[in-house]
Amino acid sequence: MNTPQLPENPLFRTIAEAAGELGYPAYVIGGFVRDLALVRPSKDVDVVCVGDGIKLAQAVGRKLPGKPRVTVFKNFGTAMLPTETVELEFVGARKESYRAESRKPEVEAGTLEEDLARRDFTINALALSLNPQDFGTLVDRYEGMRDLQQKIIRTPLDPDITFSDDPLRMMRAVRFATQLNFDIEPDTYDAIARNKDRIKIVSQERITDELNKIIKAAKPSYGFKLLFQTGLLQLIFPKMALLYGVEKVGKHAHKDNFYHTLQVLDNVVDAGGDLWLRWAAILHDIAKPATKRYFPNVGWTFHGHEDKGARWVPGIFTDLKLPLGEEMRMVQKLVRLHLRPIALVKETVTDSAVRRLLFEAGDDIDRLMLLCRADITSKDHQRKELYLRNFGLVEEKLREVESKDHLRNFKPVITGEVIMEAFGLKPSREVGELKDAVLEAILDGKVRNEFEEAFAYLLQLGQAKGLPPVHPFTHQ
Ligand code: ATP
Ligand code: MG
Repeated sequence: MNTPQLPENPLFRTIAEAAGELGYPAYVIGGFVRDLALVRPSKDVDVVCVGDGIKLAQAVGRKLPGKPRVTVFKNFGTAMLPTETVELEFVGARKESYRAESRKPEVEAGTLEEDLARRDFTINALALSLNPQDFGTLVDRYEGMRDLQQKIIRTPLDPDITFSDDPLRMMRAVRFATQLNFDIEPDTYDAIARNKDRIKIVSQERITDELNKIIKAAKPSYGFKLLFQTGLLQLIFPKMALLYGVEKVGKHAHKDNFYHTLQVLDNVVDAGGDLWLRWAAILHDIAKPATKRYFPNVGWTFHGHEDKGARWVPGIFTDLKLPLGEEMRMVQKLVRLHLRPIALVKETVTDSAVRRLLFEAGDDIDRLMLLCRADITSKDHQRKELYLRNFGLVEEKLREVESKDHLRNFKPVITGEVIMEAFGLKPSREVGELKDAVLEAILDGKVRNEFEEAFAYLLQLGQAKGLPPVHPFTHQ
């Protein structure tokens, strides 16, 4: 592991100069220094000074070409300065003291030592000097370099104190372990398990922020295992923790849905799935525990878990303070449809079944297929290979039907308005029934989704019901 070195960027000399003029010792600190050592890209540079961070930011701003505007966050005593290469964040060194029942720290000005001591982990408590006498020298009071080398997440102080002061740090420990593929040092780990209940005083937004960072990592399953083993998951997302476990009656055992879900999640990541596809993976079997039943002759069933799970999605998103728009509706759709493609493997695949799936999935068909392929997990290698091969046939069929019928963005040509006008009907159940009947015929492949043909079919349906057409030709 190389000692981190300040990059060749005149910016750092400029900050040093401004700090010197103000008489403030100043340091680059935290994640940026850690990422330099790890040779990891990093866009935010945190600068700490023993003095007024806002004043320093303004002084630096005046020295930079183009004099960028400083954004001041008065409540936090921090200031942000955008530059061409990186975003600079300035803060005065501080010490914190917490009262047991409050999550709002009392913040007081402090020394560099005190500022390092209130940091979450040793690997985040590294600083590089911007002072003339030792410009660029590393300050490492808590053996952060050793922990980077050994790939260990450890708190600088007694972990019970660090976690109790700000319980979000427990989530951050898991998050950094997952992002960096590090271990959590045993005393730190035990302290998380001991202090887990304190997570309840942290806002859901902050928790979900860290959770999403875990999910965005290259191997999110590792983070979820840590969350589960420390007991945090049971508190922040109990429905997911309920997936854990295997029940057995006689020779009938079902698979552990927690580990299955994590496998599907990692598979989705490997296939390039974005955050929302990853959420779909996490939630695809979420209602299995609630729908689980045992039948002596059949074994375990989870009948309807896809529909129940889909119905739960808005509630889960609300609880976790995830956005309730388009992304949520996509996740909900994928949960609802996640069994459909795989069902096509077992049957002889008819064009009609494929058409129906394309119609329901619409633009999300590729995401659905990705999720469904990721859902094929079996310890039996041969069985898995067979399933994957058959699944490939379904994908092929899907492409074939799609290129023929363009059902992905399917808009039925026979709308309610067309029907009402054709037969002089008012909005009614009958109109809905006729519309569905035409749609069924199109999806069955009996009629093409083309106005003339579909309209002719509509008239036939009307005739059978004794409905005379009023305006048979106006829509051609
Ligand atoms: P990244 O930006 O990649 O998420 P980071 O380490 O820069 O990682 P930030 O959340 O940006 O993390 O925080 C910057 C630094 O501030 C951290 O490196 C750490 O030293 C400190 N820090 C942030 N949040 C906390 C916290 N809750 N408790 C203690 N120190 C913290
Ligand atoms: Mg950062």
